[in-house]
Amino acid sequence: MSPLGAPCNAPPWGELIAVDLSSGEIKWKSILGTTEELVGFDETPTNEARDKIMSDLLKMIPSLLDAELVQHTACLRPLSDDGLPIVGKVPGWQNLYLGTGAGRKGILWSTGMCHGLTELILNGATDVPGFAALDPARFGQA
Ligand SMILES: Cc1cc2nc3c(=O)[nH]c(=O)nc-3n(C[C@H](O)[C@H](O)[C@H](O)COP(=O)(O)OP(=O)(O)OC[C@H]3O[C@@H](n4cnc5c(N)ncnc54)[C@H](O)[C@@H]3O)c2cc1C
Repeated sequence: MSPLGAPCNAPPWGELIAVDLSSGEIKWKSILGTTEELVGFDETPTNEARDKIMSDLLKMIPSLLDAELVQHTACLRPLSDDGLPIVGKVPGWQNLYLGTGAGRKGILWSTGMCHGLTELILNGATDVPGFAALDPARFGQA
């Protein structure tokens, strides 16, 4: 539960880590496979990101030194201004609902977001804890 009462915390940004779940100890901390930059709506891959990914990859698997890079993409991970997903009815509209803005955790959070959203649409309320903190109305009228 986030300090705002939301059922999730804003996604961490900037690096990927592996944590030992029994001790909480960070086992490795690296950017590997992807990078993350807060650059707005920009889908241009950069040479810096490619070089960082490749050098980290070669540290883990040196035998890939002569491997050929066949594709390099940049993708968006949409985030809201407060870092929390936007899930619920759009104020001022009838029957318009949003379930978006989960940044790098949209797959992880998808079942909770969809469960709460389905209940909101069918029943007008949900018992998913803290769901009110994700309400689009927190940004004002559309
Ligand atoms: C590189 C990368 C790594 C990620 N890793 C993780 C991870 O490890 N764990 C995790 O939980 N999340 C991860 N995410 C985030 C996750 O992928 C997203 O949060 C999630 O996919 C969002 O789901 P969505 O259904 O809202 O949107 P999307 O998955 O973007 O689906 C939207 C769909 O709508 C379609 N569409 C768009 N416009 C139109 C239109 N006009 N008409 C018809 N169809 C349209 C698109 O083609 C797309 O299929 C990652 C994202 C990226 C980019």
